[in-house]
Amino acid sequence: MAQAGSAGWEGDLSVKPVGAKRRQAQVLTVGGVRIRRGSAVRVDIPVSGLPVGPEVTLPCMVLRGSNDGPRIWLSAAIHGDELNGIEIISRVLERLKPRQLTGTLLAVPTVNVFGLLHEDRYLPDRRDLNRSFPGGTGGSLARRLAGTLLSEVVNGCSFGIDLHTGSGGRDNLGQIRCDLDDPEARRLGEAFGAPVLMHARTRDGSLRAAAADRGVGVLVYEGGQALRFDEAPIRQGVAGVMRVLAELGMWAEEAARGVPSLLCRRSTWERAPRAGFARITVELGERVKQGQRLGCVAGPFGGRSSALKARNAGVVLGIARNPVVYQGDAIVHVGQVRDGLP
Ligand SMILES: [Zn+2]
Repeated sequence: MAQAGSAGWEGDLSVKPVGAKRRQAQVLTVGGVRIRRGSAVRVDIPVSGLPVGPEVTLPCMVLRGSNDGPRIWLSAAIHGDELNGIEIISRVLERLKPRQLTGTLLAVPTVNVFGLLHEDRYLPDRRDLNRSFPGGTGGSLARRLAGTLLSEVVNGCSFGIDLHTGSGGRDNLGQIRCDLDDPEARRLGEAFGAPVLMHARTRDGSLRAAAADRGVGVLVYEGGQALRFDEAPIRQGVAGVMRVLAELGMWAEEAARGVPSLLCRRSTWERAPRAGFARITVELGERVKQGQRLGCVAGPFGGRSSALKARNAGVVLGIARNPVVYQGDAIVHVGQVRDGLP
């Protein structure tokens, strides 16, 4: 349920499962700002003052369609150094016209403004925002920012897409992570059409877990690296969001069909057999056989290297791009996949 003072429709504020018909009242307010039908309005939701004075806000673009329909959100940069989602949201907003939209889209491209400005995954207090949900109105900065996003954006929505990249120098193949045993999440995950559709349990404190507790489905998209704009996963993300909007009946313009996602329920990180410098000889999305050589780790003077091999056949989902490794560092992520979706 939306809480008093939070964003919402005046009238019915209850959150219904994805796909349920929601009756929208005439008046929509977000962050205390009234949003008229067929309009796009930027709303800056107050979060916290800076030590030197000015207020930091949660910038949100609200696109309210001319016609009633589902209400969903897009969020990015919950980890402040994960930038691809910002570009995905920017390109999606360039395509959408509120008058042609059915329902309402809330776009929050820079959730962790603090981390973004410092090129950092975390908040200034070193907390991980995506382990701080559901948050609240008091406590740490992370807790209050999480609470603001939940009360002002997520509450009242029936569905959301949260955009991420690989972390810690890792580069990810475009992948949707959701609960494949949830029929609605799976339907929308298939509609997104990322290269890989992965089963992932929710993690305590994550936005996805907090939304799930409120009966709200979330797709998490991960593609590319932190602190980069990676064109391929950005394009896949834009196309995926547009396909989900079409699947929900919010956008009529035909989205280019993607190839069916590879279904993945299990994956393994292959780890450095020794400390040294990793030479990876496979690419993201490459099919590998069991026992196949993925690369090697060598010392700085050349000589004998240690091979890195795939324990299982699958597809390369992630690669650590920093060649400097300690023994046991996760270097290549291999997903055990099935073609097509049973
Ligand atoms: Zn992330």
